[in-house]
Amino acid sequence: MEYHIGVDIGGTKILIGLVDDNGNVTAAKRFEMNRTSQEAAVKTILESIDDFMSSIDILPNFIGVGIVGHIDYQKGIWISSMNIPIHSLVRLATMLEKKYGVRSRIDNDVHCATIAELFFGAGRRSRNFIYINIGTGISAGVVCDGNLIRGADNYAGEFGHMSVGMTGGACICGRTGCVESLASGKGIVEQASREPSLSGRGPGELTSRDILELARQGDPAATETVGIAVKALGSGIANLVNLLNPEEILLGGSVVKNEPDFVHSIWNYVELNALPISVTSLQYFGLSNLDVNTIGVLGASSLCKL
Ligand SMILES: [Zn+2]
Repeated sequence: MEYHIGVDIGGTKILIGLVDDNGNVTAAKRFEMNRTSQEAAVKTILESIDDFMSSIDILPNFIGVGIVGHIDYQKGIWISSMNIPIHSLVRLATMLEKKYGVRSRIDNDVHCATIAELFFGAGRRSRNFIYINIGTGISAGVVCDGNLIRGADNYAGEFGHMSVGMTGGACICGRTGCVESLASGKGIVEQASREPSLSGRGPGELTSRDILELARQGDPAATETVGIAVKALGSGIANLVNLLNPEEILLGGSVVKNEPDFVHSIWNYVELNALPISVTSLQYFGLSNLDVNTIGVLGASSLCKL
């Protein structure tokens, strides 16, 4: 049995796991991420991997890393992240190979989750699927004919910045009406904080989970906010379905986790609005069956299989 290390780096946390060939995460440990500077971030990542390596008695033969941001997958370079100040190229794969004497690869975090689906989830059943992460931000991994679509610069899949033609929802990318600005965790909270009856409970006091719960209880302002999020996601996903004709759509991330009603509402919108032939091709629409907590680690460790 071969063992690989998967490292999932988010804005605030690092999760490191030991994964066997069958995709079982046999050990995992969580660390705090320091994103105050590039130097602090890299130091924290390397120290966390050191700590984890010293806690296991198995010698892994690969280290894969998933990071939020723009990654040069071929060269193993971390180029930039929205929420971590990267000012010069970080040759992370080379650093890890030199330090630990094992092969290493890095990729964007949502590409990693999609790769986990490719080898251990949807990819076992279908050659055309889309994994969509709905968390603080929104991003997707598209698999066509069994291959992850990377695009010219490994930046394909920025589904969160598909504008769905709605007014409002000023996005960090400069456009308005992006799916992310209306339906991500951050977007839902920002939309809700504009609602008069929910104001006074702004960002920091209200989470997307609270707003979904308030909507379930019949709060009119929360219901309106969730309705906008459903329409934005439903509209964006219907566009993807029409464009790519996938067999499966898998949803993951903190906003949809344990929210079957929200997922069902999105499906209703897609089913009514996407082209009938494309809807008929869809064999599955719903939550990813992989563990939401470790899908990033599993995918990062599976970069060696590509
Ligand atoms: Zn945008």
